[in-house]
Amino acid sequence: MKKYKIVLLSGDGIGPEISEVSKKVLKKLSKNHNFDIEIIEKLFGGIAYEKYGTPAPDETLDQCKKCDAVLLACVGDIKYDSLARELRPESGLLKLRSALNLFANIRPVKIRKSLLDASSLKKEIVEHVDLIVVRELIGGIYFGKPRGQITNTKIQKAFNTMVYDSAEIERITEIAIKIANQRNKKICSVDKSNVLEVSQLWRDTVLKITSKDKNISLSNMYVDNAAMQLVRDPGQFDVILTSNLFGDILSDLAAMLTGSIGMLPSASLNNSGPGVFEPVHGSAPDIAGKNIANPLAMLLSASMMLKIGLSEEEAAENLETAIDKVLSKGFRTADLADGSSEVLSCSEIGNKIIDEI
Ligand code: NAD
Repeated sequence: MKKYKIVLLSGDGIGPEISEVSKKVLKKLSKNHNFDIEIIEKLFGGIAYEKYGTPAPDETLDQCKKCDAVLLACVGDIKYDSLARELRPESGLLKLRSALNLFANIRPVKIRKSLLDASSLKKEIVEHVDLIVVRELIGGIYFGKPRGQITNTKIQKAFNTMVYDSAEIERITEIAIKIANQRNKKICSVDKSNVLEVSQLWRDTVLKITSKDKNISLSNMYVDNAAMQLVRDPGQFDVILTSNLFGDILSDLAAMLTGSIGMLPSASLNNSGPGVFEPVHGSAPDIAGKNIANPLAMLLSASMMLKIGLSEEEAAENLETAIDKVLSKGFRTADLADGSSEVLSCSEIGNKIIDEI
């Protein structure tokens, strides 16, 4: 029997509620698909700050480095916003990404048939959306140096540096190629090479690497046009490859095509070592503790973990089918309620999914 060790970081806000559902679902899947999964729970985010004075304690990071995969719920709360930046829960996320060298963020955006009407765009615009944003995660302007503020002058100044080297661009391009080869073999690389030197290097390097794989069809798009095209005709995209800043913005835009932030999973990966699988949404403090959160984004993240992190494809498929069955029977959490569906709590929809597995 295959044995896996995963670290579960429940974090803050709705995190513990959606993690509880995920734990039960993973246990049922492991039983049905004949593998053993040890779930090690560690403190991370605001709750870790409360106990250890840091959002990403060394003990948590060490466990994450040693396991097969990390499943993370969400972190954050308004009460931590006045802390020094490095003590805030969100800084813990950056520390975790750096500690595991997670340079590739993968965000699939797929419209589930039963939720077509939940999108703010017209049904005919979104019905064929099935795309993946591959975003570089630990380089570019968020990490570039020099950065800072100059305050001892008459007029204040602040500056950041958008920088990439070719090795950073090559490795994220290779991830995009790998993913495209499992799909329609189409990559659209998004940059701003008409204005930025760093984007010219991006474009040249992506071309150099993708041209080595004759199966891949590459197109390039400026980021302003890509934002427009994602709203005008999102069905044209398959794999979108882009840098940290542009990926941050475009992936949120693409995410909203599906209707609810409570439906979107993501994976952050390295070439070797454990990945971190987490929903796109935050800790939703406004609904925390009410048992009304949507656990599906976390379950879909668990499905990505099973598929990519643990190579348990059949279990992942089983989970996705169970989710689709529950939705097509008209069960919804409050964020997806449309008047004709039956609204269930977080734990109730979790139990329905468990019944379908
Ligand atoms: P949010 O994603 O937490 O919430 C935005 C809105 O979506 C809220 O109305 C919330 O109730 C709703 N929502 C989010 N997830 C939901 C779910 N699963 N089911 C039902 N409704 C859901 O974003 P925010 O309010 O801007 O941020 C709240 C906190 O989360 C902040 O401290 C922020 O820094 C943090 N945050 C953390 C992450 C992360 O852990 N990866 C990501 C984004 C924001």
